[in-house]
Amino acid sequence: MKQQGAILWLTGLSSAGKTTIAQGVAEGLQKRNYPTELLDGDIVRTHLSQGLGFSKQDRDTNVRRIGFVANLLSRNGIIAIVAAISPYRQVREELKQTTTNFIEIYIQAPLAICESRDVKGLYAKARKGEIKNFTGISDPYEEPINPEIICQTDQFTVEQCVNQVLHYLETQGFI
Ligand code: ADP
Repeated sequence: MKQQGAILWLTGLSSAGKTTIAQGVAEGLQKRNYPTELLDGDIVRTHLSQGLGFSKQDRDTNVRRIGFVANLLSRNGIIAIVAAISPYRQVREELKQTTTNFIEIYIQAPLAICESRDVKGLYAKARKGEIKNFTGISDPYEEPINPEIICQTDQFTVEQCVNQVLHYLETQGFI
């Protein structure tokens, strides 16, 4: 039987834990020999979406491009793992409707926790007004209404969150 692909779409605020969990899930899947590809928002922006900014229109374009690539992978039996803030609900819903096996994973932590982590120092810059349109501070984040998985990263460890995702894939028959 052909391996079923999927799109694991990790959405959430900056520093919520998307990259960390995406890498953990990728590692877990690779260990079990599942073909996997990681599409990280920051890296995508330096290649596929170079030149795009952070207006709503550009953010939506960025998300659609990532979705397009992820779907090529998914329909060819690869588990595509996407880590991207992807703040707007409508375009995420659009992808859910138009792609193969789209699994929405809300990487959730309160803004105050994300801000205290400030992995890339961006919240501090946003607070000083050095970065405009910063999600959570000066730009909206629209929470998923009905995600397949919610990882609460302020309440569970990285390992627990990674296992939560892998367990979902098991119970749904993807792995
Ligand atoms: P994002 O990709 O969402 O911007 P990162 O993964 O780069 O976030 O950073 C998340 C930070 O939070 C890391 O320093 C990570 O070690 C920490 N962290 C603490 N608990 C968790 C958890 N349960 N899941 C993911 N990250 C966590």
